[in-house]
Amino acid sequence: MGNAIRYIALDKLTRVLGRLSEILDVWVPTASEEKKRLVRFMPYQAGMIPELVEQSTLGPKGALLPQVESLFRFIYEKDPDDASHKRVELEDPVAPKPTLIFGVRPCDARGFLLFDRVFSAGPHIDGLYGARRDLTLLATLVCLEEDAACFCSSVGGGPADRQGSDLWITPIGDGYVVEALNDRALHVMDLLEEPANELQTAAATKVQQEAAERRVGNLICDQSRSNFLQRFDDLNYWQQMAGQCLSCGICTFVCPTCYCFSITDELKGMRGERIRSWDSCMFYTYTLEASGHNPRPTRLERYRNRIGHKFSYIPEKYEGIIGCCGCGRCIRSCPVSIDIRKVVENLEEKAHACA
Ligand code: SF4
Ligand code: SF4
Repeated sequence: MGNAIRYIALDKLTRVLGRLSEILDVWVPTASEEKKRLVRFMPYQAGMIPELVEQSTLGPKGALLPQVESLFRFIYEKDPDDASHKRVELEDPVAPKPTLIFGVRPCDARGFLLFDRVFSAGPHIDGLYGARRDLTLLATLVCLEEDAACFCSSVGGGPADRQGSDLWITPIGDGYVVEALNDRALHVMDLLEEPANELQTAAATKVQQEAAERRVGNLICDQSRSNFLQRFDDLNYWQQMAGQCLSCGICTFVCPTCYCFSITDELKGMRGERIRSWDSCMFYTYTLEASGHNPRPTRLERYRNRIGHKFSYIPEKYEGIIGCCGCGRCIRSCPVSIDIRKVVENLEEKAHACA
């Protein structure tokens, strides 16, 4: 592919992002000024310095599945003299724009692969997600250094895993070598400063090889699907593992593979808006039925469902794909330090011990 490998010097990065943002909506990971450790993806604005070293607290899923979004607006009119005469008018949502998410991690790109299966591969197609996804390029950064919570290699990914990405960014000290991974990405390459020279390309290859050799995490998930089912009824086990859970839902909101949402109608007179917002299976109200019955009334059952969904139900439904990309965000963010790796690991040990 011509123009397929480019080089951006560190001091040229914001200039490149500015140029890209003239033709695309560009999202970058950004550290908040008040809380240095809160890093989240935001639409790029002139002067923003992207945080490309520390992993983001909240991944980029909001760019494709906004935390709160309007699905459509509506007007409902009823003739006061004739109740059978009514009119409903729908107004489409704002059309998605071409978008580039710059600086995602391989684990984040893997999270979107699961979103694609759920929202775009049927049987139920989410047109709004699909329209956004078709217009979005993922520019993924080779992961140079994991922290203690990462375990991407345990769930099928890795620091140099290119699956799901459109552009591949390799840091080489004084800048970034950027490679187009598919034809979709070619049209932005001319905006990325100069073509990479041989030395820069060789340096990038070395960094990529070293990343590919790293195994991040030592969890073994091969049997997690069946082990989970064996431990399903063992409430003592779930008490040990998740008895401290506060039902705060943070683990689901920071998770790149959690996609549950709620729908509400916001009304003002006869006009309204249908809103979609993130929901969490860790909340009591998530499964609360209109009758008052709740099939998952306790925190243990809700935490058990979270593990089952990611390590048993999703693999069963989607040909073995694990519903977790090993990003470690739930481990870093949980206020009572529940570690999903220990829950899955102990599940296996206990299942084997009882077999
Ligand atoms: S379950 Fe935890 S480690 Fe797995 S993808 Fe979600 S936040 Fe990341
Ligand atoms: S972040 Fe921790 S305490 Fe909060 S719902 Fe998740 S497991 Fe429970």
